[in-house]
Amino acid sequence: MTIAHILGFPRIGAQRELKWALESYWEGETDQEALLQTARALRQRHWQIQQAAGLDQVPVGDLALYDQMLDHSALFGAVPPRFEHPQGAEVDLDTYFRMARGRAPTGKPAAACEMTKWFDTNYHYLVPEFHCGQVFYLGTHSLFAQVEEAKSLGLNPRPVLIGPLTYLWLGKVKGDPFDRLKLLDALLPVYGEVLKRLRDQGVEWVQMDEPILVLDLPTEWRHAFENAYSRLAGHRPRLLLTTYFGALGDNLQLACHLPVDGLHIDAVRAPRQLDQVVDWLGAHKVLSAGIIDGRNVWRADLEALLDRLEPLSARLGERLWLGSSCSLLHVPVDLNLEQALDPELKGWLAFAVQKLAELNTLKRALREGRAEVAEDLAASRAAVESRRQSSRTRRAEVRAEVAGVTEAMARRTSPYPQRAALQQAALKLPLLPTTTIGSFPQTAEIRAARHAFKTGALSAEAYRARMREEISKVVERQEEIGLDVLVHGEPERSDMVEYFAELLEGFAVTSNGWVQSYGSRCVKPPILFGDVARTQPMTVEWITYAQSLTQKPLKGMLTGPVTLLQWSFVRDDQPRSETCLQIALALRAEVLDLEQAGIQVIQIDEPAFREGLPLRRAEWEDYLDWAVRCFRVASSGVQDQTQIHTHMCYSEFNDILPAIAALDADVITIETARSDMELLDGFAKFNYPNAIGPGVYDIHSPNVPEVEQMVRLLTKASERIPPERLWVNPDCGLKTRQWSEIEPALRNLVTATQRLRLNWAS
Ligand code: GLN
Ligand code: ZN
Repeated sequence: MTIAHILGFPRIGAQRELKWALESYWEGETDQEALLQTARALRQRHWQIQQAAGLDQVPVGDLALYDQMLDHSALFGAVPPRFEHPQGAEVDLDTYFRMARGRAPTGKPAAACEMTKWFDTNYHYLVPEFHCGQVFYLGTHSLFAQVEEAKSLGLNPRPVLIGPLTYLWLGKVKGDPFDRLKLLDALLPVYGEVLKRLRDQGVEWVQMDEPILVLDLPTEWRHAFENAYSRLAGHRPRLLLTTYFGALGDNLQLACHLPVDGLHIDAVRAPRQLDQVVDWLGAHKVLSAGIIDGRNVWRADLEALLDRLEPLSARLGERLWLGSSCSLLHVPVDLNLEQALDPELKGWLAFAVQKLAELNTLKRALREGRAEVAEDLAASRAAVESRRQSSRTRRAEVRAEVAGVTEAMARRTSPYPQRAALQQAALKLPLLPTTTIGSFPQTAEIRAARHAFKTGALSAEAYRARMREEISKVVERQEEIGLDVLVHGEPERSDMVEYFAELLEGFAVTSNGWVQSYGSRCVKPPILFGDVARTQPMTVEWITYAQSLTQKPLKGMLTGPVTLLQWSFVRDDQPRSETCLQIALALRAEVLDLEQAGIQVIQIDEPAFREGLPLRRAEWEDYLDWAVRCFRVASSGVQDQTQIHTHMCYSEFNDILPAIAALDADVITIETARSDMELLDGFAKFNYPNAIGPGVYDIHSPNVPEVEQMVRLLTKASERIPPERLWVNPDCGLKTRQWSEIEPALRNLVTATQRLRLNWAS
């Protein structure tokens, strides 16, 4: 009979229990046993929730203490040499945490492993590191213990593994370069051993995640799939090969023919491939249809899904499984915890727990007939109808404004060189102007004040006074340090996206909708449910107050349209490009208000610009076209004299340079300190036409950068970008740092700049 399952449950806990347990362990406040106890309790709770919801198997191993990729590096004993881990020994918890964060309660600190985004999500994984002669061995045993745990609860455990090709693909070679695909031979025996042990434990199915099958893969990697999976055949539990985040596309036949026992596909992102896969899949194999969205929060249209699933079910019978499109890691845990969301909107949503119920309803409809679940289907229909017909998702004036967007609105009046001259005449900045990226330390007092205001303990007036006090302190400090273009410091923003979502129409924010971003860090993405409109200025008061305190130019600070879109749960009833244009128009109005209020420099942050790129190259152009256009609509309403900045960080930029240039921001500040200005090679080769502020200070490290080091970086930068177009700034916002760190760092930054100005003047 058809079964229902999910690919993974959010691990952080409904009350972020895992976060608190991790952080208190790292601080040395609790011991390892307490942490493991919390993890065990969460695992069991999550399994029981799934079982109670009627699911037939439970994923085991999805509750990583820090990250699932790091779990696998530990499982395969792939610990980089700098952690001085004895080869062959069990990888203990503190070694694991040192790999994740550079330090742990015990063991010598060492540079943490690199972190990067998991496919097109905002989740970050720890990048495996491989070196020449890399050895793999069974480095941890907790997966096997967890299988026993699940069995003792009477559950049907399905261990989750990242497949060998995806594991290698996402890793990076350190030291002497070599082809990491060559490591497959060394790696497969460990997979074999893990699978054999799981079989001996009586495990029936193993979930093998190979999401790279939705990417453009080189031929050798495609061939390696056949090789690897044939070698894993025999003496193992059955394998469910899981793919997600997109269509298999040109890898479809390959995936269908691999010697495994079932294939899971993402039928939310790529609905049409369901039928194709049915045609290609071997007659004995299970097809797991990922039909409940693991990446978004809308309730599914269950009847529409059944219309599609019933014919499949007739063809496949018990070989059809129903699943979440991907792990539910990317959605919040439980909608029932949202007390403040208005009931109408709440009725449209499903978080992880609610998605389990949807799966169960679908399964029962297939097994027992629609009549048996008539009530649930009626509720789903009502929710879908309510959303479709709601007057809150559509605003005539916004629709009219979008329809009225002209090409001229997406273009500055004059080309960059002319604007730059006018801006320089107005701003009179020195060579190599210094600035920061926007935020200053968010101290406990600032957070307490915001919290008190939100809960009503602090009046609006008192709150305003408190924020003004903070702003004036920040302005004063920047003047003392000697920066050229100042910022107000963003004390009023809990988060650069949520702040705007709270002020714009069309967005809702949750009180507990946390989603893991990395390790113990979570974000609370807003829900973008309807047409976006700005009903009031959002930043003008804070920024103009800051400007009133100084003669120096103050930089207004906004989050860009693409980033607001990318870091929210976005409505799925219209193209993302259209929603983004609505946001762009709202921001355009804010930009104009700032200019009107006398602000001469305005930064529109787009840290998520790169992350929105589709996984397949063939789809890049379309995305880049509308994303660039939206940024330009937001930024181009101003006079030539007004200087537009943008900021991007922590991603690969070289392959999208033409799009970055097309944004036509007067200045882009960008992360480079870690890569030693290598990023600028790309900008130089491309002849990037406008001004650039390459970050010279790595804000993710508590270390204070030396003057010499920054002089060296800037000298290197000036060899690539003409000094007239160079700015000096840190890599990113300073929100997470302490004043005691940034004050000396920024002083050094100013000193380094002054030294170069002198050198170059003589
Ligand atoms: N202006 C934001 C800040 O300084 C930018 C943050 C970011 O790039 N993620 O915090
Ligand atoms: Zn940044």
